[in-house]
Amino acid sequence: MELRPDLTLPVIEYEGLSAEESADLRKAGIVLAPLEQIKGWARSNSLWPLSFGLACCAIEMMATGASHYDLDRFGIIFRASPRQSDVMIVAGTVTKKMGPLLKRLYDQMAEPKWVVAMGSCATAGGPYVRSYSVVKGVDQIVPVDVYIPGCPPSPPALIYGLNKLQEKIRIEAAGKKVPV
Ligand code: SF4
Repeated sequence: MELRPDLTLPVIEYEGLSAEESADLRKAGIVLAPLEQIKGWARSNSLWPLSFGLACCAIEMMATGASHYDLDRFGIIFRASPRQSDVMIVAGTVTKKMGPLLKRLYDQMAEPKWVVAMGSCATAGGPYVRSYSVVKGVDQIVPVDVYIPGCPPSPPALIYGLNKLQEKIRIEAAGKKVPV
């Protein structure tokens, strides 16, 4: 099949270049972008979550990673070590006993790193909000980037949340603020 990049891809209007010059770059297969944006694009498409689950939400997280929903297609691949991970999906109830261990795992992850609070337990304590032993939101321990509601959230909800995290990484890499 003959590739026709000048017709199949949109012309990007670069600041300081005329429309013709931008089109010429596009035809030659050249894309100009600030390094931070390229890094943001690469990072957002290669998220490596820590293999780490706390309760029932973790079953949904495992199902999302398995063959039917296949998180690998987004470049999202679970890793068994915090040293190799850049995303922590807090999937389940965070007890006060588990809190310090969760923080230690977070501290062991390399920068830049992100946290997803999956489900109502991780977001705000869930059904155990009145319990003496449960942390009422993991944001009391680590900074959270994306909250996913539900008890438990379904695999499509987790995928949506991870897509939102990818979007957030790309927006912040462009030096913009993510609208709340
Ligand atoms: S939010 Fe619901 S499903 Fe998820 S860990 Fe809490 S009780 Fe379990």
